[in-house]
Amino acid sequence: MNGSNHITGVCSGLPLGIQDIMWGTDNGRVKNRSDQRTLKSTARILCDMCPIQAECLAQSIIGREQHNRIGGVDVKARRMLRRHAEIDGLDLSNSNPARTRNLTTWLRDHPELVREVREQSSTREGRRRRSEDQYVYRQRKAVKQAVE
Ligand code: SF4
Repeated sequence: MNGSNHITGVCSGLPLGIQDIMWGTDNGRVKNRSDQRTLKSTARILCDMCPIQAECLAQSIIGREQHNRIGGVDVKARRMLRRHAEIDGLDLSNSNPARTRNLTTWLRDHPELVREVREQSSTREGRRRRSEDQYVYRQRKAVKQAVE
């Protein structure tokens, strides 16, 4: 998962077929659920060791990548991170040329939030808290729109 830049990450040293199974949409080829979970958590550990995790994650969030567990973070959790960053005032629109760099810095500054959203998207308790957060987010957005 090198994205479109020239920086290489930990996963780039693995064969493409293995990358697809661990980070991509090919996980279904592994039939055993326990093996699937092991592969997922191994991918997550490798991402957490990766020197370009924040850049990788920022690129996938900006590009609205709809698949894969990029940076060890699934699609739902990446959407949540995008919302958090925008609430924090980051301009992630296409017209801002610094959006990927700014988001990378923001992600590096909020490692606890990355862990939190990842947990929210992968556990039952986390999913319950996520729906509460989404409710709060919609409320805040409605108030903001009413003020504007
Ligand atoms: S963060 Fe994970 S998916 Fe991204 S380059 Fe590193 S190992 Fe690959």
